[in-house]
Amino acid sequence: MNPVPDAFTGSDFDAYSALVSSRVGEVRERIAAAQARARLADTVTLVAVTKTYGPEAVMAAWAAGVRDVGENKVQEAEGKMAAVDVPVHWHMIGHLQRNKAKGAVRFDLVHSIDSLRLADAVNDAAGEAGKVQRVLMQVNVSGEETKGGFGIADAAAAADALQARRHLRVEGVMTMAPFEASNDELRRVFRGARAVRETLAAAGHPAHVLSMGMSGDFEVAVEEGATLVRLGTVLFGKRASS
Ligand SMILES: *Cc1c(COP(=O)(O)O)cnc(C)c1O
Repeated sequence: MNPVPDAFTGSDFDAYSALVSSRVGEVRERIAAAQARARLADTVTLVAVTKTYGPEAVMAAWAAGVRDVGENKVQEAEGKMAAVDVPVHWHMIGHLQRNKAKGAVRFDLVHSIDSLRLADAVNDAAGEAGKVQRVLMQVNVSGEETKGGFGIADAAAAADALQARRHLRVEGVMTMAPFEASNDELRRVFRGARAVRETLAAAGHPAHVLSMGMSGDFEVAVEEGATLVRLGTVLFGKRASS
């Protein structure tokens, strides 16, 4: 495998970009192999997670053919939106405070709707902006206290409640698996998220997206039906912080 790039230091963008492209190519092959193992054929969207990296990471991902970029902080993302001139799709993947809802409606897809109160705030902001905001319901399958999201037991009631938010379009589910989970635990989490997507669909939402899989677990996620993976470290290298 090609080395993971170091954070861009400002000297040689072409070399950095070439390294990111080679990593993207390798990751796409691993996604395709996981799909083949599970006999799945639908397109899996690769979201390059550029949090903590500069705008060059977005530019390098774009040059590698990636069209979707993920950020976990509104303000950091807004800086990059202003700094790049390529029309990537922006994904908000991090926990959102309600007072950031106005900023959240600048994103193409908000993955992290983790409470009805936040849903209301984003719904209001979308209404004011005159748009229907595409969102995902974040679910906490493992029940870890450090992770946000609707519990599995609350998903059906939330799916019903979300029907009334006219400025939200609930397109599916996002989840995060525990770090260092066993393969069995990963599969249990990813299957739990898939079941919630069925619950959303049954409630009438256009729930076709399953956002699951990060650098350490994306192959299992793809085998379990992920339609979108969120990858940072495996493309851009270790983050100094997040
Ligand atoms: C940072 C982050 C990722 C990417 O994590 P990596 O392990 O670097 O691939 C994915 N999803 C969310 C919600 C994140 O915050």
